[in-house]
Amino acid sequence: LFITFEGGEGAGKSTQAQRLEAHLRAAGREVVRTREPGGTPGAEALRQLLLFGGHDLSLRAEILAHFAARCDHVDQLIRPALARGAVVICDRFIDSTLAYQGYGLGRADPGILHLIAVLGAQVGLAPDLTLVLMLERAGALARLRARGGPADRYEAADEAFHARVADGFDTIARAEAGRCVTIAADRPVDVVAGDIARLVDARLE
Ligand code: C5P
Repeated sequence: LFITFEGGEGAGKSTQAQRLEAHLRAAGREVVRTREPGGTPGAEALRQLLLFGGHDLSLRAEILAHFAARCDHVDQLIRPALARGAVVICDRFIDSTLAYQGYGLGRADPGILHLIAVLGAQVGLAPDLTLVLMLERAGALARLRARGGPADRYEAADEAFHARVADGFDTIARAEAGRCVTIAADRPVDVVAGDIARLVDARLE
């Protein structure tokens, strides 16, 4: 089972991914918890370049770099783990590229959305279940401030950009309602974790 967490910054994806990992391990499952961009040494190097490199890559180059990282991650970590029966939990995946680069930076330009769709088809691996954590931007900003302000160049971007990203996630979740489940992330961590555990247990039965 391939599970991805999606949503804006400060929605609690990493915390919930950790909680889900603990829940599944307690039930005796092999779990591989990973993240994007990153997850393998090569992809983590690309993450550094993308988030902290200070290069102003053109949008298409940025998208290709995200997919280069993703291909390495899928080929070297995710596919082998799924093949041996592990549950893979990934913090962000293709939907983040659609939301950030497609809807946020690309403003839903059809050519850009098409490029992402073509590259996504080439990766050839879709999540079985995507948990989209939704949090009002005000709540997300409060959480980001609590952890010491924006961590990278995307988190520091302007509010109009973050609004386009949020709309992007909304559009994706509606378009792929079979795969995506929207989770209200403005509730206590334990409550959100309980909802997610029940959803995943149902899929595993
Ligand atoms: O939230 P997380 O720390 O996993 O993501 C790292 C950063 O990379 C975030 O600021 C996120 O907005 C950004 N990102 C992006 N495009 C992606 C994936 C992540 O801009 N495709």
